Amino acid sequence: MSVIIFAELADGAIKKSSLEAIFYGASVAQLIHTEATVIALGSSTEDELAKLGNWGAHKVLWANDTALNENNAQVYANLVANAAADATVFIFAKSSLSDAVSARVAAKLKAGIVTNVTDLPEVTSGFKVKRSIYTGKAFATVALNTSVKVIGIKKNAVQPVLSNATATVEPLATVLEEKDLGVKVIATHKASGTVSLPEADLVVSAGRGLKGPENWGIVEDLAKALGAATACSKPVSDADWRPHHEHVGQTGLKVAPNLYIACGISGAIQHLAGVNSSKVIVVINKDPEAPFFKSADYGIVGDVFDILPRLTKVLTD
Ligand SMILES: Cc1cc2nc3c(=O)[nH]c(=O)nc-3n(C[C@H](O)[C@H](O)[C@H](O)COP(=O)(O)OP(=O)(O)OC[C@H]3O[C@@H](n4cnc5c(N)ncnc54)[C@H](O)[C@@H]3O)c2cc1C
Repeated sequence: MSVIIFAELADGAIKKSSLEAIFYGASVAQLIHTEATVIALGSSTEDELAKLGNWGAHKVLWANDTALNENNAQVYANLVANAAADATVFIFAKSSLSDAVSARVAAKLKAGIVTNVTDLPEVTSGFKVKRSIYTGKAFATVALNTSVKVIGIKKNAVQPVLSNATATVEPLATVLEEKDLGVKVIATHKASGTVSLPEADLVVSAGRGLKGPENWGIVEDLAKALGAATACSKPVSDADWRPHHEHVGQTGLKVAPNLYIACGISGAIQHLAGVNSSKVIVVINKDPEAPFFKSADYGIVGDVFDILPRLTKVLTD
């Protein structure tokens, strides 16, 4: 019996969302009196992976194979499902890759799967988890009755507390055959920009209140001053004011930064669905009745063309 956590690597480092999953998995392992084992697939370093002990991992099984550097959900799912025969709980972060891998792992192992989980499981009688539903408007408590369980956590589901522990790193043997690579990534074109939006701690996002693409300089200046990523509402990317990879919401990226600053965005439910896991939301809107203020931790009623340059000035002076 053990808890397995699938960790995503980007340029050799474990992604932030996976670090949260590792801390969550280690907490589950503690609850059910077992150990937390991380599976890392692709290029990294032993030192980098040993540091996962800080997040609660006891052991890291590492397949150090450059053939695994391109995300391939099918291959990853095979390796994760076969990695530990005695594993009873598998933990995944919230990301498009982890979603694809977790579903395949659950199908392979005939495991019950629950996604969008917001809290640690209740294990005193059975195994129950709380999940966010209706785009964060409600919660459901779900019992996982299968012997093997797969859990996908919602972003910001846990508040990690780090320790000084070191994880042992062991090789994970992989024999990849041509048939395993039936789907092969031929090229990857990464979105430009200094801060990756899905992993960003700080996000400055803007909507139609900015009036046009020529005005985005004030959004970028504030983002630069904060070291934040930029995002936008759907109509903004639909109108090609901003690239589509910046669109957040129900039909776009789901983000969960520590700070989300919404500038000239009305706060439609479809927009909130992608940002309501953010820890702190600041809304800047000239309309005091804008719906977004109901979801805001802090609100500024004002004109973005006045407020944003002033905020940037305070941060850079
Ligand atoms: C099926 C479906 C899926 C959708 N998915 C998404 C999604 O994923 N993401 C998404 O964002 N939307 C989505 N939408 C669209 C959503 O319903 C809203 O239409 C959209 O979010 C509105 O974008 P906005 O707030 O930028 O624009 P608007 O609704 O036009 O709001 C602009 C805001 O800017 C304010 N403003 C104007 N000028 C200024 C100024 N000078 N200073 C300060 N404030 C100012 C206004 O008061 C207003 O509140 C979806 C809709 C549907 C039907």
